[in-house]
Amino acid sequence: MNRTRFAPSPTGPLHLGHAFAALTAARLADPGQFLLRIEDIDRTRCRPEYEALIAEDLHWLGLDWPLPVMRQSERLPAYQAALDRLAALGLIYPCRCRRADIRAALSAPQEGAAPIGPDGPVYPGTCRPRRMVEAGLDDAIRLNAARALEHLGLDEIAFLDENIAPGLPHRLSAQDFIAGVGDVVLARRGMGTSYHLSVVLDDAAQGITLVTRGKDLIDSTWIHVILQKLLHLPTPRYHHHRLIRDAQGKRLAKRDDARALKLFRDEGVPAAQIRRELGF
Ligand code: GLU
Repeated sequence: MNRTRFAPSPTGPLHLGHAFAALTAARLADPGQFLLRIEDIDRTRCRPEYEALIAEDLHWLGLDWPLPVMRQSERLPAYQAALDRLAALGLIYPCRCRRADIRAALSAPQEGAAPIGPDGPVYPGTCRPRRMVEAGLDDAIRLNAARALEHLGLDEIAFLDENIAPGLPHRLSAQDFIAGVGDVVLARRGMGTSYHLSVVLDDAAQGITLVTRGKDLIDSTWIHVILQKLLHLPTPRYHHHRLIRDAQGKRLAKRDDARALKLFRDEGVPAAQIRRELGF
């Protein structure tokens, strides 16, 4: 019996890609439990009207979920408690670099071409010597990746994906994580958390046993597994699914409003037709 979740951010209307993600999560939960979670930590981009639309669209598709729905904006104390634990272990540090500082540091001739991790260019470590007592309100908080892996005594990170390679763990060496992912941001400036920290804590708090989400997030999973181990949380199983693309082969984004489920609904397209087209 699986417990799965669909975790959209209310920053725009849901489109066909979201429908595929939600239907996948619900199907893989059967006969277990399918949950909805609202990922609304970025208060500048989230809108209540989009949150209302999420529920309408999902009900239209025939989905249902238990209430109340978990909302990340209500979980800041849990995120802070986790940061406090990581700080006590000496595994995080405050970072005052802006994007332009990072670009400038990475373009220094001695640096060579910076590898691109799941969150962009790997952080060059400018603020790594800083300590948490120096943290300013305007700082981001980063994981010290090398120290975290040393603390865990891990030579490699592994997780299971049931869709991409059933039974065969995905593996990444600690060295490759440090070089290719690096000191990721765990709390964004002025936000108190990040996608990575919140998703790990919330999946554990909701007892999610199978995390289903798009393949575009598979490289974030290394980060999540490390955080789970540091915070003594279970590592769920994963199912990274294909992405729905438009006729040109481009993956759908929130701004592709032409594919918004609401538009299909308003045009009187039956939900059954959308489900069929998506293979459900
Ligand atoms: N809020 C994320 C998104 O909309 C969900 C990612 C996840 O399922 O882990 O892409």
